[in-house]
Amino acid sequence: MPDSPTIIEVAIPLHLDNTFQYLVPGRLTPMAQTGKRVLVPFGRRKLTGYIIGGSRSGDRDLLEIIEILDREPLFTVRELEFLRWTASYYLYPLGEVLKGALPAGINIESRKKNLLAPDGSCTTEVVLAGGRTVKTAIFYRAICAAGSVSPAKGKRACVVDYLRENGEASSTFLRRELGADSAMLKRLVEEGHIAGEEREVYRDPFREEVFGRDHPITLNSAQKEALERITAATDGGGFVPFLLHGVTGSGKTEVYLQSISHELARGKTALVLVPEISLTPQLVKRFKRRFDCGIAVLHSGLSDGERYDEWRRIRRGEAEIVIGARSAIFAPLERIGIIVVDEEHDGSYKQSEGLRYNARDLALVRGKMEHARVILGSATPLVTTYHAAQIGKLGYLVLPHRVRDLPMPEIQLLDGRGSKGETFLPQLVSAVEKNLEQGGQSLLFINRRGFATFLICGECGHVMNCPNCSVTLTYHRNKGRHFCHYCDFSIPAPSLCPVCQSPEITLLGRGTERVEEEARELFPSARISRMDRDTTRGRGGHARVLRGLEEGEIDILIGTQMIAKGHDFPGVTLVGVISADVTLHLPDFRSAERTFQLMTQVMGRAGRGDSPGRVIVQSLAPDHYAITRAVTHDFAGFYAEELEFRRETFYPPFAYLAALVFSGNSASEVEKSADRAARLLSSVKQELKSRVEILGPATAPLTKVRGRYRWQLLLKSARRSDLHRLLIVYREKLRLPAVVRLSIDIDPVDML
Ligand code: ADP
Ligand code: ZN
Ligand code: ZN
Repeated sequence: MPDSPTIIEVAIPLHLDNTFQYLVPGRLTPMAQTGKRVLVPFGRRKLTGYIIGGSRSGDRDLLEIIEILDREPLFTVRELEFLRWTASYYLYPLGEVLKGALPAGINIESRKKNLLAPDGSCTTEVVLAGGRTVKTAIFYRAICAAGSVSPAKGKRACVVDYLRENGEASSTFLRRELGADSAMLKRLVEEGHIAGEEREVYRDPFREEVFGRDHPITLNSAQKEALERITAATDGGGFVPFLLHGVTGSGKTEVYLQSISHELARGKTALVLVPEISLTPQLVKRFKRRFDCGIAVLHSGLSDGERYDEWRRIRRGEAEIVIGARSAIFAPLERIGIIVVDEEHDGSYKQSEGLRYNARDLALVRGKMEHARVILGSATPLVTTYHAAQIGKLGYLVLPHRVRDLPMPEIQLLDGRGSKGETFLPQLVSAVEKNLEQGGQSLLFINRRGFATFLICGECGHVMNCPNCSVTLTYHRNKGRHFCHYCDFSIPAPSLCPVCQSPEITLLGRGTERVEEEARELFPSARISRMDRDTTRGRGGHARVLRGLEEGEIDILIGTQMIAKGHDFPGVTLVGVISADVTLHLPDFRSAERTFQLMTQVMGRAGRGDSPGRVIVQSLAPDHYAITRAVTHDFAGFYAEELEFRRETFYPPFAYLAALVFSGNSASEVEKSADRAARLLSSVKQELKSRVEILGPATAPLTKVRGRYRWQLLLKSARRSDLHRLLIVYREKLRLPAVVRLSIDIDPVDML
């Protein structure tokens, strides 16, 4: 875009596909730049939009903008290119994508300079229009080379001497520690002894932590080979994507660290994506110990203010490494040399509402635009990732052994059929007892929180369902209530069946709470803890449980898949999987893959210290290939079988998918809209001669969520471009009643 444009292109965060042109009045043209926000008239409203382009000529018959809101652009032209790609790929309005990529705390940051006290003597909290605050302080440094600050010795000289020796200090510090006051500081500035500079003070989410130093480890041969291939790509300077396939504990993180170090040495930056950073405090610590540069951390546990602070540090180039969860893929980091996606198979990379992007996929897109190296790391890569590596689309790096050649844990598969649904089979009980005697720690895994799965009436068969969602309610004993895990609806536990008044109501299934209670009965002397979403609410909840385990204060930890994720527990010598099949029977094409991944991750928690671990898996489907392949560590076998299944059923990687979900409060309107959509799609398909399969409409497996009925259509095609074109033309022709909403999910990862 040219300097001083007279016409600009503006994206507005509304559910509109187009962008808008506005005229820039003469006084504002020098400030009009791509990446700034503008206030524009829109109908009878005034809205904030984003400048995405401009020109010096064109239609003069346009509305004028009202104001330009930023002094500096919020995004670069290169970032805009990435965000445009995202909007077009996910069929989502560009204005909404831009708004979502910027931190919530940004709302109209202005006029903070004028609000500072004139003498600028202390930390100032500036309240922004959105009610948020920015902290600023004046930092002073000495400017005269030597000589005394006369005539009044004492405090004045003290301040100057201190600054000469220590470089700089904030006004707050000088007042508190050296007794300076604002008049004195002001005079020292006027006399030319010191200089002051207003700077923002960041809220550091890791401020309480103390970090030691650690040094690169001498790599084993597999790590060395992986690192060499990555650094060769770095030296080549182009976009090169890799799959780093290594069992848990094989030293992947060490390879990330040393690859990043190589990029930093070339003046590049690094973006590290992790599934959910509050679950991996150990990883952040490891980075902080290794690198002496700026590290910014973005995750959902930050307050808006903290998140905004981190965002600004990155925007200003004060961080060379950004570590964050999903949304960090939009971090305003420049000169990206490498993007690491740790645990690339993790479902949390996909956003399930609004802009349904997948940060793992976007990492490849952004990496390509930035000519960067991309490493997808996992012990259990996605079937699609593994396939891409097999056909050469990704470089394949493998770390086949655990570091220091620790033996893999011994695994025992127990057939739970015919056991009347006991939580603990006898072999598991004796294994836990033996482990307790030997002083080892045990992890017990059950993929369901709460006490029991659901309540069923033994008389009439009535099952307690959520009135808003088509799922059963889960009993939470400590609260004495039944909860919906989708909408949080709850009711007190009834003593009689609400339909037939029979007292014969029974709890079926089990969750973490019930496993905990039974474990307390079976192992009365053990110190038992539970880790799930209920016990780790609030800040630092996970860290607390993990520390307890690390410090040996816990003998048995019972948890959901939260315990399966990336932690390193040297003291854990036994892992028990209470029920391996909970995820196996979900109506979803990825259920086998999920089960295999989860099993492998959970089993990988055993024996990471010096003694080999032991794993016991209880299953009601001990013959299923997801289970048999997991317990024999047979990755290749599982992937071959699963890929065959995908080929036969025409699912990814052999087909590209898009799901259309229609929802609304009126069941009949939603159904009618879905029917009409199917007919419209077929006629567009014929018109375009596109090779796309249209499945449905059908009620979604979760037919009702939060009171909204859901119908869905699934589109499949061997060619992405056919699918995309069909959806674009379809959307142009689409007319939906106001009470029905359509959301389009490109590359859906589950069908629930
Ligand atoms: P992963 O990320 O694959 O789970 P890590 O990189 O965390 O594996 O390595 C597991 C443990 O082994 C860590 O404690 C790490 O410090 C250590 N480690 C990694 N590489 C080596 C090596 N080459 N020699 C010795 N120890 C190593
Ligand atoms: Zn009943
Ligand atoms: Zn509900």
